[in-house]
Amino acid sequence: MTQTVDFLSHLNPSQRQAVEHFCGPMLVVAGAGSGKTRALTYRIANLLRTHRVHPENILAVTFTNKAAREIKERVEVIFSEQQAQLQYEKPFSALTSPEQTKLRSQVYRSVTKHLWMGTFHSLCARILRYDINKYTDEKGRQWQQNFSIFDESDAQSLVKQIVTKELNLDDKKFEPRKVRYQISNAKNLGLSPQAYQRENPEYYGRVIAEVYGKYQDRLAANNALDFDDLIRVPVELFQQNEQVLAYWHQKFNHILVDEYQDTNRTQYDLIRLLVTNGEHPRSFKNWKNRSIFVVGDVDQSIYSFRMADYTILLEFQQDFGDGLADDDTRTMIKLEDNYRSRENILEVANQLILNNTTRIEKVLRPTRGEGPPVYCYQADDEAAEASFIVTQIKNLTQQHPELGYGSFALLYRVNAQSRALEDAFIKSNILYKVVGGLKFYDRKEIKDAISYLRMIANPSDSVSLMRIINTPRRGIGKTTIDNLVNASQQLGVPLWEIVNDQDSVNTIAGRSAKAVNQFAQMISSWQEKAASSTALEILEGVMEESDYILDLSNQSTDEAESRLENIKELSNAVAQFQEDYEDSTLGGFLANASLASDLDNLQEGEQAVSLMTLHSAKGLEFPIVFLVGLEQGLFPNFRSLDDPLSLEEERRLCYVGITRAKEQLFLSHARERRLWGYREPCIPSMFLKELPSDLIQGYLPISQPAKTPTPTPKKAKKTQSKSNKKPSKVESFAVGDRVLHRSFGVGQVTHIFGNKGKISIAVKFTTSSPKILDPQVVPLEKL
Ligand code: ATP
Ligand code: MG
Repeated sequence: MTQTVDFLSHLNPSQRQAVEHFCGPMLVVAGAGSGKTRALTYRIANLLRTHRVHPENILAVTFTNKAAREIKERVEVIFSEQQAQLQYEKPFSALTSPEQTKLRSQVYRSVTKHLWMGTFHSLCARILRYDINKYTDEKGRQWQQNFSIFDESDAQSLVKQIVTKELNLDDKKFEPRKVRYQISNAKNLGLSPQAYQRENPEYYGRVIAEVYGKYQDRLAANNALDFDDLIRVPVELFQQNEQVLAYWHQKFNHILVDEYQDTNRTQYDLIRLLVTNGEHPRSFKNWKNRSIFVVGDVDQSIYSFRMADYTILLEFQQDFGDGLADDDTRTMIKLEDNYRSRENILEVANQLILNNTTRIEKVLRPTRGEGPPVYCYQADDEAAEASFIVTQIKNLTQQHPELGYGSFALLYRVNAQSRALEDAFIKSNILYKVVGGLKFYDRKEIKDAISYLRMIANPSDSVSLMRIINTPRRGIGKTTIDNLVNASQQLGVPLWEIVNDQDSVNTIAGRSAKAVNQFAQMISSWQEKAASSTALEILEGVMEESDYILDLSNQSTDEAESRLENIKELSNAVAQFQEDYEDSTLGGFLANASLASDLDNLQEGEQAVSLMTLHSAKGLEFPIVFLVGLEQGLFPNFRSLDDPLSLEEERRLCYVGITRAKEQLFLSHARERRLWGYREPCIPSMFLKELPSDLIQGYLPISQPAKTPTPTPKKAKKTQSKSNKKPSKVESFAVGDRVLHRSFGVGQVTHIFGNKGKISIAVKFTTSSPKILDPQVVPLEKL
């Protein structure tokens, strides 16, 4: 008999319904903190437990790798709780800790190790490690399974080389960072270099297209992919090769996606292909033992600059639900209770987001009691803002000894804001960590070590080879390296083939020939050993043999000491990886390492205050949150000030920030701020003026008339104030209508949301990304 599924008692009826829905499509839409991620987690446990789905058949996409790990841990606990009852006839909590550990590790080995869970990037990298050799790009180029993943800094240095060395252009005019950004956008829009040039025929566009073409050549020559390729390539591969697609379609019977509102078109295509095996979603009927389950919140869509498009979420029902209406509850569930935030915090968030016109109204009820009022502080400048925060943290930790520093988070709009805050923490001896700052894997010594490993795994990776050929110094000079590189370019072979060929080296490397040959011998002996050694053995071996460790030890400075420690930490990471993953090969570890973000290292219970940007805070929660720098031009960001849609995205970002707080929220703004080297007077953020003043203590710039807190949002203030306006032509829009917008151009209405009082319409534009617009606010001409 199946064990009673009592773990589902941790869910409310709507969550339970979502979790228990077995086959077919299902969309969960709900506001922040309403238990969407929890529902997704329990659904995985339920699929495994109740429906006996094999973990290998589940694909779950999360926003960070850390979120994936947390979900895995949670699933383990759920399983262990049940197992405890079976094995020991006691609840899990009543077991001794060795018994608990034993149970957890049994579950771990048997279940969670086999789940396919992670970000789009890490899952795609895993798929490609099986099948990339079956892919051919439009120029007939191919990749091998040991491909390297170039991160942003590798990609930028490649662009820089092309701009300055190959094309001899001025890198002031063609800044590598900007050029790389353009290339990335083109890739995300599915534009080839030729297509990009057709769309941008002017000089600047032509140059970008040329760099883009050469950049792609270089990636291919290095047997490497960048982050944009990681998702695009599997999509193209699935479109090219029916058998490959059929294999993955059959494997992943149950697909789950968290934060679905921030999915972009390529990611959507990937999901769609996997679910329907290439059939059009609307005609796909074969839902036996198969499901697609997505959760999201349009009010938290904050990644449009990375081409995220929340109309994908809005189209879910029409798409996978075979044309069902948007509010058809057969394939859609709403969650309306918030379990995260105190009522005061939630009400502030609810009121703020009502100022957005392009949204779908929803209910979000508090369940956790009122809590302390939200506090707003006006500081003289950024230093005063920081010292206010330090004082609050000190007071609160004194008053509530159970609160460790790990209970606090500071959220800001741009990374540059962290410096002033860090100064204050250093002065007052408060432990803190900047999340998403310089990533562990971006540190010099870590990049060096990883480059050694990449060279061993993928000899075509010339970027890594260039990095380590003379690191540590082994007497291979710049001229020699230039000669070697020239030879490789002229012969059209990877740099390694030249470096590893004694005759060539002896001819062109002059006095450095001996050093080059020795280096090549060392690397090639590790390449031979790679198949029979673990990733950890290779790392430790090559770091010793290359004299990298010796070189650092000889320096005997604090800095060198800390670099040595980081290398040790990298060994720990490799060891951990070998324990956690089925694929513990060098290639597997490298894919994982290039995709790790600092966010992934955020340990629960760690006693340091977290500092991070609002974008990184998505999906997270903290007992106490400080939302800082609420100033016009900073937050909302100046670029959004004259663009209503960007401004709404900024407001959503603010909504995300507010709703991270569980117990208490502090808002702050400064009258003057030094940022990026300038000291400037600041005006309080317009968002502050939109908050309900009766729920806020401290200084609010312009108070509004007091409002009684309402547990459920009723009507948008903007809508109310506009309700006297003529209803205009709003009701006359219908799905299929062609419309014209002043800046977005011509488009077609794809959805109409809401009812008479407040209507939003979704429009697919021919030359801009799709938008949801309030026709009462945004002028649209019907064609
Ligand atoms: P976000 O939109 O910010 O991603 P979310 O909808 O994913 O939020 P969760 O993170 O799943 O929300 O849940 C928010 C908090 O509420 C978590 O601490 C979670 O453990 C808790 N929670 C969720 N569902 C319930 C429930 N039914 N009973 C009690 N607590 C719950
Ligand atoms: Mg969530």
